[in-house]
Order: sequence, then structure tokens, then C-alpha cells
Amino acid sequence: MEQAVCLLCGVEDERALLRRAKPRHVVCRRCGLVYQNPRPTLEEISAYYQQGYWEDRGPIAANGANGAEPIRPASLDRGRFVVEWTQKYIGSVERVVEIGCGRGEILAYVRDHLNCQALGVEPSRAQATTAAQRFGLEVHNATLDDVDLQGRKANALVLSHVVEHFHDPRAALIRCRDLLADGGWIFVEVPNILEPNRHKRLSKWLAFEHMYYFSVGTLSRVLAEAGFAVKHTETKAFVRVLAQMQPVVPKGWAAMPASANEYRDVLRALRRHEFIYWPRYAVQRAASLLSRGRAVASSSAEKDQDD
Ligand SMILES: [Zn+2]
Repeated sequence: MEQAVCLLCGVEDERALLRRAKPRHVVCRRCGLVYQNPRPTLEEISAYYQQGYWEDRGPIAANGANGAEPIRPASLDRGRFVVEWTQKYIGSVERVVEIGCGRGEILAYVRDHLNCQALGVEPSRAQATTAAQRFGLEVHNATLDDVDLQGRKANALVLSHVVEHFHDPRAALIRCRDLLADGGWIFVEVPNILEPNRHKRLSKWLAFEHMYYFSVGTLSRVLAEAGFAVKHTETKAFVRVLAQMQPVVPKGWAAMPASANEYRDVLRALRRHEFIYWPRYAVQRAASLLSRGRAVASSSAEKDQDD
């Protein structure tokens, strides 16, 4: 593990979100960015991904021979977002590149609906193979830092539930500029720290593999500091942003001032989550215990009749 400072403020002025040592997510008192501190080193997190992260995510066969598995509704929804916003705000695109394309579901959807070239970049070999075999996609088994697309620039990049995994999202987004044509577009989707999954307790939702959690405000700041102008946003359980590459990266990371409200908003959102989650959990738990009790009672009643 290694110590971290706030990506946006460069200092450690933080408050822990939960009373636990690992993973320990904190919120910056100055800007409201949520990050993990201490966090796994790059070596530790890549060992974690290789050991079991993907295996936890349902039946992906390491050999990629899993063609019959249906496309998940969440992936369809994410694909639709890219397609609809492209049609609405951009018009048409010639080439789309997805960073961290996983099994290729979103990218294949985008290719088929926008009728464009589609390239995937995916560090997991198993996932890259699955995406290529299942959808006939060109997938580069590489990281964002290492990938070489032989000068083929993208008109749009897609990063869906990827940015929160990076150790340095700003550096990663600056690297993304190398892959984009001038004035190119970037679609980013991340979990929304202001709308935690209401079916999960916070200690489950705040995940070890997530170095950051963003609001639309903090994500917009990181994008601005990497030289992207945010054009459209949508927030639900996720934050969705469409941003356009600007000619230069602003100097001194001073593209957008911190909002004093972010810190307060994060604490308020997490408190609201706990307030809603636990009574609901108690009711569901009681209902399931009751129904189990009833099942036991009726099965012993059946037994009595048999006797
Ligand atoms: Zn900060």
C-alpha cells in the first residue's frame, strides 16, 4: 500500500468515509474528491486484477468461448448512451476507440449502431480474447499507456467505468489526447458518489479496485485540467459526461476552481444513503426470516400429515 494525496489539491486534508482500515476511502475537505488512502500500489492492484477481479464478474471463460451469454442490460444502456449522444451532439464519427473495453459489449453495440470503425483496448487477455472472438472486434491487449494504434486517431473515445480505476486519472486523460483526432470527443461514465447504489451497503459499494469516486463536479474538474471542455452531462447512479478535446492542456491545473459545496454534498449524500439503506435492509431481512419460518412450519406440518 502507498500513501496518496488529493489529485486536485495536491495535499492530504481528508476525512475517512468509513471506520475501516482497508479499503479506506476518504473525502478531501477542500474539494470533495473521494479517493483511496492508503491505496494499493500499481503492482498490488495489477496482481489483484490477475487473481480474481474478473472472475468475480460472472462466467467469463478464459478461452473466450462464451458466445451464448446474453448481453447485460447495463452494457446495453451504456452503449445506447454513446450512440444517442453521438447522434444528438456530434453527428457522425468515423472511428471509435474504447479504453478498457472488457468483453466488448458496449463497443460492438456502438459499432453496429453508428456504422463506424471500432477498436478496443483491454489489459486483461481473457477479456480481450472474448471481445475479439465473440464480436469480431479488433482489440489490443494493452494498457492505455502502452497501446499503439499505428497512428489511427479516434473521433471519439469511450471510457466506461474505467477512470475510477486509474491511479492518476488526469495523466490518463492527458494520454487519451494522443489517441484522439483534433477536436475529438470523449465519453466518460463513472459511478456517482452522490448516488451510491441503494441496494448495497456503503462498505460493499466502496470498492478496493476504485482509487476514486467522482461527482459530476469533480469529474468535470479532472477533465478540464486534462484539456477537455465538458459539453453535456447526466447524473443518476452514474455520472455521464461528453467532453471535447481542446487545443492545449491548461497550465498549473487551474482550469476550474474547487466548489466549496462538494465536500458537504458528499457527506450529505452518504448520510442519506445510510438513512435509506438500513431500514430497508431490516425490513427485507425480517421478511425473509418470516418466510423462511413459514416454509419450515409448513414442511413440518406436511411431515405430520405423512406420519
Ligand atoms: Zn482536494
